[in-house]
Amino acid sequence: MRIGVLALQGAFIEHEQILKELGAECAELRKSSDLDKEVDGIVLPGGESTVQRKLLEELGMLETIKKKIQQGLPVLATCAGLILLAESVSGQREARKTALIEPRSLRGQACFATLPVTVRRNAYGRQLGSFSSSANIRGLREEERPFPLEFIRAPYIESVCGGEEVEPIAVIEKLPDGSRGKNIVGVRYQNQIGLAFHPELVGDTRCHEMFLSMCHA
Ligand code: GLN
Repeated sequence: MRIGVLALQGAFIEHEQILKELGAECAELRKSSDLDKEVDGIVLPGGESTVQRKLLEELGMLETIKKKIQQGLPVLATCAGLILLAESVSGQREARKTALIEPRSLRGQACFATLPVTVRRNAYGRQLGSFSSSANIRGLREEERPFPLEFIRAPYIESVCGGEEVEPIAVIEKLPDGSRGKNIVGVRYQNQIGLAFHPELVGDTRCHEMFLSMCHA
């Protein structure tokens, strides 16, 4: 099985290491001709969504990837990747203060917009808004065993627009400021998995296993 890993910016090497450990081959996607390669699934890594989106546009990769996702190619998107998938993005105003690059032309626009959710960028604060937690994730092997969640300037899923078809698979109930409240931090919708946290950084391969099980031709 071969997985395309978007390798423009961010934490893509860590995904590749896990995918290889699980027996998959990885194809790095860095330019539009890389999208001609046959792949069984695609990973959109964390990083900086504004930078990634700008590069996707400039390199002429955005529309091709979007089409592949719409045609059913399985996708695992983490953190910035989730933001790229989301139909709508809120919190742009706060996010703008922390973004390295946010060209005027891109403000407030969605990128692939294939996942019917609204995500809030940098939902847990500014640069230092990183924290750890854990939760049971629906659909994982040994579902009852909590999965370690690592959040780095993470978004969360503020609302779900696709009705019952969008399945929240991960929810945290204790927020980083110590208060209680439910935040959806992972969803599954048809061929798409969107996670606000970083499963590639915690030494637990179960999220990637779930993804690979969707990629079987
Ligand atoms: N805050 C980043 C963004 O808005 C996402 C952070 C991450 O991917 N770890 O793109």
